[in-house]
Amino acid sequence: MICDHLRFKAIIMTEDVKNYTLSELKSALSEKGVVSYCACQIFNWIYAKRIENFDLMTDVSKETKSLLLENFYFSKLKILKRETSLDKTEKFLFELNDGASIESVFIPEGNRFTLCLSSQVGCKYSCKFCLSGSRGLKRNLTAGEIVNQYLAVSDLSNNPITNMVFMGIGEPLDNFEMIVKAIRIFTEHKGLDFGKRRISISTCGIIPQIQQLSKLKLGVKLSVSLHSADCEIRSKIMPVNRKYPLGELMKALKSFSESEKYPVTFEYALFGSLNTSKLDAQKLIRLLRGMNCKINLIPYNASQGAFRQPTLSEVEDFCNELEKAGLFYTLRKSRGQDIRASCGQLYALWG
Ligand code: SF4
Repeated sequence: MICDHLRFKAIIMTEDVKNYTLSELKSALSEKGVVSYCACQIFNWIYAKRIENFDLMTDVSKETKSLLLENFYFSKLKILKRETSLDKTEKFLFELNDGASIESVFIPEGNRFTLCLSSQVGCKYSCKFCLSGSRGLKRNLTAGEIVNQYLAVSDLSNNPITNMVFMGIGEPLDNFEMIVKAIRIFTEHKGLDFGKRRISISTCGIIPQIQQLSKLKLGVKLSVSLHSADCEIRSKIMPVNRKYPLGELMKALKSFSESEKYPVTFEYALFGSLNTSKLDAQKLIRLLRGMNCKINLIPYNASQGAFRQPTLSEVEDFCNELEKAGLFYTLRKSRGQDIRASCGQLYALWG
């Protein structure tokens, strides 16, 4: 009991070192009279050598080590559950410091191993097909908690993580500051040195933050949950469309794609009798014609609840319309359905 109390006191008096980008750590240390080069050494120890103990950082002086111990701690995620799907997708349930939980998903696909990251505990956007938003939003994740998902899964997995998508629990652009920090930590040369184009942010379409992202030119990819090219239908599926309507969203996305010189990806879940008609396909063609973009079609899985699974002929007819118009798309399979790890099935618990 006394030990727990002291540990808690230590945590609230110190900072999680994994919340710091390299440049933030340099400034924090230089305020305490430590040369900025030391921040590079620490980054290298934590992210390249994977050492989370200041005492083991052999090229850091004794004085600096005691200063680090007084001011910083290493956060960790506690793994509560690990499940493996028949298709080899893995789902991890992690507990955070405050007892809330999040899920991360690891998706193997040939030589590609993608980690799907959560960015919030819960979500406030209430998309009708998604369980993650069913209890609203509890809180944002810290950058350290986002980075820890990568560190934990790469320690637990036999395969290297080659790609990351912010497509787990939460709307990443609603936690803008922390996902930008986490991306800067992931891509830092002195640390993990993860390729920018191997990271993708998936959003329901938060226009002001898409515009902010364009200005930052982080070099990461952007995908958007579209699900309908008809404003009224989209609002039924995704209430966020009432606040950030399709027309305005498309302008923001075009300018993102132009400033990043990279195509935006549109996710389009096919819901039976809702967004799969010939007219729906033609509206999609009109909306995206001439735009530098990719389209992922995902037939909806009825076990997720709210809408109907499309029939095979609905899927084929929709695909044929896009093909006739020369619009390229990828027909995707939901992964990890049997362990509730596919899109819209992730869930977080809190008290
Ligand atoms: S799809 Fe994304 S934005 Fe929509 S409720 Fe789920 S987590 Fe939130």
